[in-house]
Amino acid sequence: MTKRAFITGITGQDGSYLAELLLSKGYEVHGLIRRASTFNTHRIDHLYVDPHDPHAKLFLHYGDLSDGARMVTLLSQIDPDEVYNLAAQSHVRVSFDEPEHTADTTGTGTIRLLEAVRLAGIQTKFYQASTSELYGATPPPQNEETPFYPRSPYAAAKLYSYWITKNYREAYDMFAVNGILFNHESPRRGETFVTRKITRAVARIKAGEENHLYLGNLDSIRDWGYAAEYVEGMWRMLQADTPEDFVLATGVGFTIKDFLEVAFGHVGLDWAEYVRFDERYLRPTEVDALIGDPSKAADKLGWVPAVHGDELARLMVDADTIALEQGAKWIDTVSLPSWSNRELVGARA
Ligand code: NDP
Ligand code: GDP
Repeated sequence: MTKRAFITGITGQDGSYLAELLLSKGYEVHGLIRRASTFNTHRIDHLYVDPHDPHAKLFLHYGDLSDGARMVTLLSQIDPDEVYNLAAQSHVRVSFDEPEHTADTTGTGTIRLLEAVRLAGIQTKFYQASTSELYGATPPPQNEETPFYPRSPYAAAKLYSYWITKNYREAYDMFAVNGILFNHESPRRGETFVTRKITRAVARIKAGEENHLYLGNLDSIRDWGYAAEYVEGMWRMLQADTPEDFVLATGVGFTIKDFLEVAFGHVGLDWAEYVRFDERYLRPTEVDALIGDPSKAADKLGWVPAVHGDELARLMVDADTIALEQGAKWIDTVSLPSWSNRELVGARA
């Protein structure tokens, strides 16, 4: 029997890797996309097959997490075995500018989807994209038992989603889980997150197309992993015998300065000559240090990530260098010379 999955946020970084993974496992994949005046599907264009083709396995549906009735209709029609709720206003800095919109999409959107599952009367497993931002001011190392202390409208909205997912698990006996994922990046990462902002700038500075890179706080610590490995962890959570929440992280922390040093150093440049400070990139409340303890995922899911922040910085610089040469938005990791024969633990079943 072919399994069916429904992914919200399929046009985002994680949605695109997850769609790829599930298609490779033989799933029929249904994705929610937002109607926009310009194309917003560049991360999944390589997966798309005309739906008239009898071999088509990927189907896209217009909708928005602000529209609960649409979620009910879609879930009733699709009747998925697995639902992955990845859609969100996912940028912490932007959440301070748009707190209400962030609450509506990143918080209330989750209850709309959970209620839609109930109202549609379907039996499905449910994955909620929770985040290390929930830990906020609580110092590392952080695991599934660490108390939360959110430090942004984004994190507060995700805290609601975390608890409501847990509540639906307990109240309605749903197979609903939270993946508490630490930062994960890739050549497909949104261009305004700090890693991608840096690696794109390195490529452009090296090519002589830019002279400076403006950044905010360089002292915060993040645990950066590779997104392609993290979607494997999401899938494994839904294949477990019982619904449980899991941290996915590398367990290794880097400052922004460390990342700058590796990324600029990879092309023989000194970051200090190019990086300028701009206070607009500071947050009113910062999250100083996130370093996860992924031992539960290793023990129970056999999930162990292979790529850490330093290798990630190098591969993202390589990818952005080639993307710049080709005039592409991003290029796939597998087309990098440095990637040949790379063994990924988290990303391989
Ligand atoms: P992205 O920002 O790349 O993607 C977000 C997705 O959500 C996009 O497909 C976007 O659509 C969609 N979306 C936004 N608002 C709505 C809405 N109102 N209705 C429907 N769809 C909407 O995020 P990532 O792929 O990086 O992250 C995936 C999820 O995991 C997010 O929920 C994020 O908060 C969470 N997360 C991410 C981490 C990371 O390090 N990447 C860490 C921990 C959690 P469109 O393309 O049209 O904008
Ligand atoms: P986050 O951990 O989800 O907030 O991911 P980001 O990539 O947006 O930010 C990671 C860290 O980089 C945060 O501590 C930011 O304050 C810091 N940072 C410093 N300069 C910048 C910048 O110019 N853009 C972003 N996005 N973050 C920056």
